[in-house]
Amino acid sequence: MSNCCSSHSTKITSEICPTCGTSCKSVEHKTLYHQVKFPENQEISLGKYYFCSSEDCPVGYFSSSSEIIPKQQLRTYQEIKVDKLCYCFDINVSALTANNAETLKNFVIGKTKSGDCACEVRNPSGQCCLAKFKILEKNNLLSKSAQS
Ligand SMILES: [Zn+2]
Repeated sequence: MSNCCSSHSTKITSEICPTCGTSCKSVEHKTLYHQVKFPENQEISLGKYYFCSSEDCPVGYFSSSSEIIPKQQLRTYQEIKVDKLCYCFDINVSALTANNAETLKNFVIGKTKSGDCACEVRNPSGQCCLAKFKILEKNNLLSKSAQS
């Protein structure tokens, strides 16, 4: 299935978060520069950076040369805290119900296809927001109200 991020030529690699041990995917520098606040955005090195998506982990990005940018220094910090599902269209996981989940997913798919999404800069992972819809679906969370 195509998504807005499939056109990227850069190969995504994985690295283990030095703080929490989660497997993290690499992000492009474009994502970093749109996510990291001043003045931390002045210190971004040329190396590869990875995003730690673990909500409990204070690490936002870490580089292959051990630089760490805390989640608190990201523009999306508040959104990460509320477990944002789609950063492009401001949809929270908690906003999903059994009744609207399918509709919202189709909305995001439609916008992705027409190129109106902005995952690469809006989503701290740089990944297409649809990926998270798919995870929710896989775990059968889309059919229930989102309570843990
Ligand atoms: Zn981590």
